[in-house]
Formats: sequence, structure tokens, C-alpha cells
Amino acid sequence: MGDLLHDGHGRRISDLRVSVTDRCNFRCQYCMPADGLPWLDRSAVLRFEEIERLVGIFAGMGVTDVRLTGGEPLVRRDFPRLARMLANVDGVEDLSLTTNGYLLERDATALVEAGINRVNVSIDSLQRDRFFQITRRDSLPQVLRGLDELAKHPEVQPIKVNAVAIRGFTEQEAIPFAEFARSTAFQVRFIEFMPLDADHAWSADQVLSGDELRAIIHAVHPLEELPREPNSTARVFRFADGGGEIGFINPVSEPFCADCNRVRITAEGRLRTCLFSIHETDLREPLRAGASDADIEGLIRDAVWRKELKHHVGEPGFRQPPRSMSAIGG
Ligand code: SF4
Repeated sequence: MGDLLHDGHGRRISDLRVSVTDRCNFRCQYCMPADGLPWLDRSAVLRFEEIERLVGIFAGMGVTDVRLTGGEPLVRRDFPRLARMLANVDGVEDLSLTTNGYLLERDATALVEAGINRVNVSIDSLQRDRFFQITRRDSLPQVLRGLDELAKHPEVQPIKVNAVAIRGFTEQEAIPFAEFARSTAFQVRFIEFMPLDADHAWSADQVLSGDELRAIIHAVHPLEELPREPNSTARVFRFADGGGEIGFINPVSEPFCADCNRVRITAEGRLRTCLFSIHETDLREPLRAGASDADIEGLIRDAVWRKELKHHVGEPGFRQPPRSMSAIGG
């Protein structure tokens, strides 16, 4: 194990998000256009062995948590085999997945057997017509069946349901999701809408803040805040009557950058040191040009040393990254 990976602000980096594809089978309004986006050429996307090698290099610098994202990771052919390869990388202690859940019913068992131990499922509405409205897919029943299939595996803990909060839409979802959190073992989180949409149509007045949502729920089901976990992105509350918990991820109204421990690799092998990075470091070309692990490690350490202190959303001069959420991964 080499020196632990730190940025120039003294933050230790222990969490790597890996986007395994830019493709997706949904067309969420806050993410991509109805017709989708021009997908990467397959040859441009990192091969399984390349992802495995990069994860190994990061693990050698003390990165212990790896989250697999997309686009939609489960549309990548043979994805469970990749998960198994990464679960076997020395130093990887936690392997998790972010998915829209559409293929979970098919893949749940294979994912668990491969070594996935935490899963976040993105669901923005529990009402079939409204789910269709926001994702442009009539797939809620299928996604809920996938959740149930995953829930058959107690070794996957926690299973989180993440809902993007948008003003004028999510207010009506607050209580149904609170009831869902109270009646199931799934941990519900609301995520504020961020300026990472492909249409660049985001505006601050579309952001429904975590505080506003919490107030809607608290009025019906009183909430009490739980202590914040280090590096956590969520403010988590328990229902005062003991009926479970619910969380709010507020990157716009309450940024949590101070103890950020995360960096990302895109599907084509670019290192992003922040979700809102404007600059990226290409790791694929050096990989394919025969660079040694030490060379790649040097590139990573240099880039991470220059990691952004925080995002500047809502500040004068903020520039939305040219790359959209579907091409970054959560
Ligand atoms: S915005 Fe950037 S610095 Fe802030 S928490 Fe997210 S990744 Fe970390």
C-alpha cells in the first residue's frame, strides 16, 4: 500500500465512483433529452480489465469504497462479471451500485453473488403515471419488482431509494415516499436537482430544497435529526414515532464539500475530481499506451492534489460542466 490518497486541502480520498457506460434505458427529464444522447463508441469505453486495473491502482492508495454507476450500469453486457472482478481487487472493502432498477429483477441474484453489498435505486415517483412523466418510461411496476427481488438478499444493506427533488413535481411525492420509508426496509433519500442536465435548462427556482421537503413531511410525520456520518452526503432523520428514517441530500442548499472523499472515473476513462469539474484527466490513453501502474498513480495523485475545494453552484460565474449527469454517473 502506497501513501494514502489526499487532495491539496488535506481531505483523504477513499471513495471512487466508476461509470461503466454512458448508455441508459431511461430518458429522465432532468438528465437527458427524449431522444437520448450520442453514445460513446464501444472502443472508447474502458474494458473490464482496464477498469479492474484502475480500481487496483486506486485501492493501492487506500481507496476502499467503489460505487458502480452509469448511464445505467446494468445495460452494460456481462456487468455481473465486472462486479465480481472488482469485488476481488485487494483493498476494495465496499462495492456498491447505483441503478434505475429496471433490470434488477433479472440481475439481483447475480449481482449479490458477484459481491455487490449496497444498492441505490433511483425512483422519482411512486405513482405510475408520474413515474412515466419524469422518466419517459412506463416502468414503475418493473422497478418495484426489482426492488423486491433485491430485498430477498439480506446481505445487501442498505438498499436506498433516491428521488430527485424538483419544484412543482416532488411536493406531491413527499408523503407517499415518507409512507414508503415507514412501511418498507428501504432507506428513502431526496436529492436536490443539480445543474447537470444535458439540456442545460437547470435554474435555481426549479430546486425544491431538502428543508422544504422535510417541512412537508414533518407536518404529517414529525422527524428528529440523526447525527451526521463522516463524509456523508445526506442529512438523515428518524420518524419521531419510531417508524424508520428518511434522508435529504442537499448539494445546492447545503453543500457537503468540506469533507468530500470522492472522485470519479467516466466510462471512457477520464478522472473527474469533483461532480462539477470543468477539467478532467485522461487515464485511458496512458493505460492503452503502455504506461506503468506507477505512471498512472502519478497522474492520479497530481490530479487529486488539485481537486476542487467545493462546487460553486448558485455563485456568480458558476459554469455548468459540459458533461451531463448521464455521462458522469452519480
Ligand atoms: S460537489 Fe464536488 S467537492 Fe462537493 S461534495 Fe460533490 S464531488 Fe465533492
